[in-house]
Amino acid sequence: MSLSTTLRSFALAMALAMGFAVVLPAQRSMAHDADLPFDIAFPQEAAKTTFSNTWGARRSGGRRHKGTDLMAPKMSEVYAFAAGVVTKVGNTRRPGRYVIIEHAQGWDTYYIHLNNDNPGTDDGKADWSLTVAPGIEEGAQVQAGQLIGWAGDSGNAEGSGSHTHFELLQNGRNVNPYHELEVAYDRAIADLAREAILLAQLAEELEIS
Ligand SMILES: [Zn+2]
Repeated sequence: MSLSTTLRSFALAMALAMGFAVVLPAQRSMAHDADLPFDIAFPQEAAKTTFSNTWGARRSGGRRHKGTDLMAPKMSEVYAFAAGVVTKVGNTRRPGRYVIIEHAQGWDTYYIHLNNDNPGTDDGKADWSLTVAPGIEEGAQVQAGQLIGWAGDSGNAEGSGSHTHFELLQNGRNVNPYHELEVAYDRAIADLAREAILLAQLAEELEIS
């Protein structure tokens, strides 16, 4: 397979991913949508992530789902949703390892079930250098889209496959992040597709010359 064929395949895969993204709005719930006062980035590697609107879905113990599960393989990169300050890097029973970021105007985001496993294992014994990126500690300033850590299955995600449980709060109250995630996801996938097409064109020109 030539380089340009590989790149074309990648571009096609990206285009299909875009098509998939176009299907998602049918599931959109407008009831709890946020209207955010700052720039946002999709908070995980978009090409590796699948997600749907599960806001309010029933969970064990009478709880309701208060976020969006961004399904992705372990060690997929997790990014800051918006600029802000890390207010918590923690580890508790149900969330497992997590990060909280405070943004402007009373908004916060939670990144839950971050990786706690050594590569190729499910041992729950990974060093924190496999959970959060260098410099991600309480008080750290982050930019939208900055790498903050890696996806995993810590806490009560051990049985449900690795994912980042993402929450968005306004003045301490959860709001449904799904619509904002969808907007950021579509943009991230479009960027990847544009890059892939440019790479494919570049590879073609290099082969001709
Ligand atoms: Zn969840």
